Amino acid sequence: TEAAIVETARRVLPAGGFGNTASEVVIREGKGGRVWDASGNAYVDFLLGSGPMLVGHAHPDVNRAVLDQVPRGTTFFANNEHGIRLAEAVVEAVPCAEKVRFVSTGSEADLYAMRLARAYRKRDKILKFEGGYHGMSDYGLMSLWPTRPGNFPQAAPDSAGIPASLRQEMLVAPFNDLDAASALVAEHRDELAGVIVEPMQRSIPPRPGFLQGLRELTARHGIPLIFDEVVTGFRFAYGGAQAYYGVTPDLCTLGKVIGGGFPLAAIAGRADIMAHFDRGAVGEAGFLPQIGTLSGNPIAAVAGLATLDVLRRPGTYERLFATGRTLMEGLRSRLEKAGVKARVTGEPPLFDVVFADGEMRDYRDTARGDAQMMRRFNQVLRENGVLKGDSKFYISLAHDERDIATALAAFDVAAAALAG
Ligand code: PMP
Repeated sequence: TEAAIVETARRVLPAGGFGNTASEVVIREGKGGRVWDASGNAYVDFLLGSGPMLVGHAHPDVNRAVLDQVPRGTTFFANNEHGIRLAEAVVEAVPCAEKVRFVSTGSEADLYAMRLARAYRKRDKILKFEGGYHGMSDYGLMSLWPTRPGNFPQAAPDSAGIPASLRQEMLVAPFNDLDAASALVAEHRDELAGVIVEPMQRSIPPRPGFLQGLRELTARHGIPLIFDEVVTGFRFAYGGAQAYYGVTPDLCTLGKVIGGGFPLAAIAGRADIMAHFDRGAVGEAGFLPQIGTLSGNPIAAVAGLATLDVLRRPGTYERLFATGRTLMEGLRSRLEKAGVKARVTGEPPLFDVVFADGEMRDYRDTARGDAQMMRRFNQVLRENGVLKGDSKFYISLAHDERDIATALAAFDVAAAALAG
């Protein structure tokens, strides 16, 4: 039973779950836009494995590709045909991608992208944006905690297990604040290795001109601009957020969708910078250490290729955006009608609600959100057959009319619950 599984989880997992909190729902299976828990309850799934399942769970084409490959070998630690074909597909799809290096997780991709920028520039500091998430590496985590004075900790707390010396290596500007970023770049340009940014930070879209301004600023100083597209890659458009917003970085990181639900991520970008992954190009002494046992393994590669094949079909993104728009508008209008103080923010393929008033411009605005209301909201949705993450609605191509209707009905109940 589900209760017995939850009990086992409490016994064998720290915090009783895979993450830092006990799981309230134990998933047994997924199909299309839905998942079922261990008791057999169905949920419309807006968690989507935290984003990878853009084409839906257990898509028949992805299944077929994986099931064809499994009996032919699952990993080789050598160049393999499927991985090379996937790299070619990334180069064709993603504007900044001239070369591609595979890794297994988004955290690794971000870690290596920052290391690559440092190897290229022969400087150490990275500029990031307050509240930006760039994975769980020590270096990536530097960016998770806001560092401006105020109601927020100055840096990662001591309990985070990150060497204090590393905390000096990040420069932090508020998201969407081009003036602050410009001032930091001007002051530190001789120490800066790169600038890393989520094109849409969590669910806060870039203000008009922000990404373009970063592009011009970094180009002026010859500093690589890195888009963390682990979330937005293949989701905002086939070419990712860089295609969607029309700003091409020097490097980007990809994860989630690219592996079709299997562990695969990538760093992609300008050939001259990516050359630091090549001993021959930069000389033995200049080469950047990067390797990984399962990187670019053929199972993940065929799942990724099959996923990209689905995404290239005509009308894909129109359908994804239409679903997302219906849900965003449906949620916004219901909360408004119920008089709940809330902002629905993001882009149709990925959005969220923040229980606060006013403009959503940077991390501090989302941090103003009422956490208790958010917990209540997520709980009411769950009780009404809708699953989402703590802070995101991921939309899938597999979400159909019935899923949308279930979600809108759950929004009705949640709006009423929060109004009362
Ligand atoms: N960057 C961003 C923007 C992310 O959202 C995530 C994961 N949610 C990561 C990096 C890390 O990816 P992974 O969980 O695969 O390590």
